[in-house]
Amino acid sequence: MADDILAPDEDEAFRGRCRAFLDEHATGISLGGRPDPRGELRMRATQRFQKALTDAGLAGLTYPAEYGGAGKTKAHEKAWRDTYSAYPTMTYDLIISHGMCLPMLAEYGTDAQKSAYLARNISGEDVWCQMFSEPGAGSDVASLQTKAERDGDEWIINGQKVWTTLAHLCAYGIIIARTDPNVPKHAGISMFIVPMDATGVEVRPIHQIDGSTHFNEVFFTDVRISTDNLLGDLNNGWRMATAMLMYERVAIGSGTTGGITTDRTDRLIEEARRRGLSGDPALRQKLMRLRTLETCLSLVAMRTRAEIKAGRTPGPGGSIGKLATVEIADLHTEVSMAIAGASGVAWEDESDGYWQRQALTSMGHGIAGGTTEIQRNIIGDRVLGLPRDISVDRGVPYKDLKVGTQTR
Ligand SMILES: Cc1cc2nc3c(=O)[nH]c(=O)nc-3n(C[C@H](O)[C@H](O)[C@H](O)COP(=O)(O)OP(=O)(O)OC[C@H]3O[C@@H](n4cnc5c(N)ncnc54)[C@H](O)[C@@H]3O)c2cc1C
Repeated sequence: MADDILAPDEDEAFRGRCRAFLDEHATGISLGGRPDPRGELRMRATQRFQKALTDAGLAGLTYPAEYGGAGKTKAHEKAWRDTYSAYPTMTYDLIISHGMCLPMLAEYGTDAQKSAYLARNISGEDVWCQMFSEPGAGSDVASLQTKAERDGDEWIINGQKVWTTLAHLCAYGIIIARTDPNVPKHAGISMFIVPMDATGVEVRPIHQIDGSTHFNEVFFTDVRISTDNLLGDLNNGWRMATAMLMYERVAIGSGTTGGITTDRTDRLIEEARRRGLSGDPALRQKLMRLRTLETCLSLVAMRTRAEIKAGRTPGPGGSIGKLATVEIADLHTEVSMAIAGASGVAWEDESDGYWQRQALTSMGHGIAGGTTEIQRNIIGDRVLGLPRDISVDRGVPYKDLKVGTQTR
């Protein structure tokens, strides 16, 4: 049987197995009003779900069994996603660990790295974070100043990362660091695997606009890691980082499920009905626009997933899905605040304030995973073939550039 098609009876049997699992376990993450500013409770619930999924033989569907996957086909993966899309998502907090770190480890890791890390990543026992951004290197992440210097069988890392989502709950992080300052900035970067409990790694919370602290600054002071922790080739980190960012845009733009999902609009429609506002023609029009955008995004995501399924590494087209999520988030905020009315400006306890929190955090959507301006640049340059931005530092050795906020 071809990898991308299941026989109808096999497909239906597998979907039935997924449904049976999801009926029991995908019941939504409820914190029962308990405060969870650092996201620990949510993460524990996510890990419980992922463990159950692993025990049921449904985790890491397309990854080989020898590395802790289920060893199934892409058609099984599609059937799972289609089925999961009808249930509340339980795995949003694994979007970086599974959407970005896992495919990078599987694609570029050595056999030893895959044996050491994949199974525990897939089962959610170890959660992974992404450590790219620095105080002086975000959009222009190739200007990063965190450095890794070789010392015998080890690399010594010094520097600082910032905006590291959920770093405090992670066992490992994928970091990019400067390994050769004598060549142009894109050419002297390498990618490494860092255990977050290594001596010299310090994770500090960043306080966010909605009161939560999911973000972190991560400081590295003489952190020693083995040379075995190099991911991919030495000084090939920029190419690796670009591949990981493509996975990130796809993960953000296509979510963790499949099929056509309009759950954000559906929830707003429910709320409008609850408040007796569903007859308002202006509101109905906006809700319809939102639903249409969500449907289009699902279709774009399906196309992107089909490309991945056909064996292609996600290309710059992933930026289109990422841009659409931003437009949807902005409109969602506008509509939700119109529905919430005066109660949109405040909430009283932790269990309340869902819409308000969504509105406050929605501002980050146009920044996370590369800003809206950067996505437009990528689409302009690499999808539409427009002339590239002027680059003043092309060919200049990194050590001769004036970059960032730290001194070297
Ligand atoms: C919710 C969220 C989660 C995140 N999680 C992580 C994470 O887990 N790991 C991680 O490493 N990072 C993470 N980030 C950081 C994110 O990748 C950076 O914030 C982002 O790349 C922008 O970098 P910056 O904040 O330094 O802004 P800057 O790069 O300083 O940009 C400032 C402004 O200038 C504009 N700009 C910059 N360059 C150009 C250009 N060439 N053309 C046009 N406009 C330009 C930008 O669009 C922006 O409006 C996260 C951010 C958010 C909001």
